[in-house]
Amino acid sequence: MPRPILATIHPAALQHNLMRARRAAPDAKAWAVVKANAYGHGIERAYEGLRSADGFALLDLDEAQRVRSLGWRGPILLLEGVFEARDLELCSRLDLWHAVHCDEQIDMLAAHKTNVPHRVFLKMNSGMNRLGFTPERFRSAWSRLNALPQVDEISFMTHFSDADGQRGIQHQIKVFNQFTRDLPGERSVSNSAATLRHTRPDDDAAQGNDEALASDWIRPGIVLYGSSPDFPEHNITDWDLLPTMTLSSKLIATQSIDTGASIGYGSKFVAEHPTVVGVVACGYADGYPRICPTGTPVLVAGVRTRTLGRVSMDMLAVDLTPLVAAGQAVGFGTEVTLWGRASNGVVLSIDEVAQHAGTLGYELMCALAPRVPVQVQVQD
Ligand SMILES: *Cc1c(COP(=O)(O)O)cnc(C)c1O
Repeated sequence: MPRPILATIHPAALQHNLMRARRAAPDAKAWAVVKANAYGHGIERAYEGLRSADGFALLDLDEAQRVRSLGWRGPILLLEGVFEARDLELCSRLDLWHAVHCDEQIDMLAAHKTNVPHRVFLKMNSGMNRLGFTPERFRSAWSRLNALPQVDEISFMTHFSDADGQRGIQHQIKVFNQFTRDLPGERSVSNSAATLRHTRPDDDAAQGNDEALASDWIRPGIVLYGSSPDFPEHNITDWDLLPTMTLSSKLIATQSIDTGASIGYGSKFVAEHPTVVGVVACGYADGYPRICPTGTPVLVAGVRTRTLGRVSMDMLAVDLTPLVAAGQAVGFGTEVTLWGRASNGVVLSIDEVAQHAGTLGYELMCALAPRVPVQVQVQD
C-alpha cells in the first residue's frame, strides 16, 4: 500500500470558480490562466473543469503543446511571448498567440518565415516594471509590429501590481488608457484581483474612479483555483469560491502525552496539560510547508483543530484534544484534511494554511510535491 496521502482535484469547483470570475465581468472573454501546470493542479486534470473558458493562457511552450494535445482548438496565449526564435515556429504550427514585451521579440518576428501571420498581444509596462514597453516607447513598438507581414491582429495588455491592495489599479489604468486610446485592437488587463475587485462599474463609481477599466479579455488565475486573491481582506466564502484541490491524509499513530512532554524535532511544542496527539502521514516532502508553526489549522475527521510542533519530512502532529473531549472516535486511519474539503463537507481554505506559512495559496498549490498521488474527483 502507498502512504495514505492524496491530493484530489475538483473539476466541478473549477467550473464554478470560472463562472464566478465571468460573473464579475459578464461582457469580457476569459482566459483561464493555466501556467505552472495549472497552479500545481495538472493541466490535464484541470482541463475538464476549465474548458468553458474562451482561451488558455500560460507561458511554457510544452504546456501549450499539452493543451493542444487535449484537443483544444481555441485561443492559447503565451503570456511572456517567445524566448528564442525557433519558438515562433511552434507558434505558427500550433496557432499560438503570444505576448510581445520587448524589442528582441519584434526582431525575431521580423526574421520569422511564415505564411500565417501571428496574433500578438503587445504588452505595456504601466508601472509593474517587470515586462513590457514603457508608455513612451509603446507607440513605436506598435508601429514596428503593425508594419510586419508576420503580424496579423495586434491586441494590448498590461499587468497590475496592486490590484489586491491599497494602491489599486487607477494609476496604471490611466497610463494604459492614455497611451492605447486611439489604437485599434482588443485589450486584456485584469488578473483575478482586478476582475473581482475592480471590474464592476458600480465599484469604480463608488470609488470615484475616473478611468474606465475596459478588458475585452480577463485573465483570471488564482481565483479559478479556489483561493482568494485578497485574503485576508476577503476569504473564499466572501467571493463565493470553492476549493479545487484537497490535500488529505490519515492518522498513522496517536500518543497521549503528559504535561511537560514535547513533540517532534526541536521540542518546539511542550504540552501545558495532558494532550492527545495524532501523527499524520504528511510532511514537507509532500509540499506541506515546514515553516507552519504550532496552531496552523487542520481538519481531523472534518473537525477543525491545530498542528503541534515542527513539521517533519514525512509527518506532522495534530491536537486531538477537542475531538476526544467531544467523544469522537479518532485513531489510526482517521481522515485528516490539510487543506480543501473534508468528507463531511467542512472546508479549510488553502489561504489560511498559507497565511500561517507567511505566504499565499499560490505557492502552496504550486509546491505540491511530485510524490503525492493526485486523483480527479468523479463529478457528482
Ligand atoms: C499569472 C498571471 C495572471 C493571473 O494572475 P492571478 O493573480 O493568478 O489571477 C494574469 N496575467 C498574467 C500576465 C500573469 O502572469
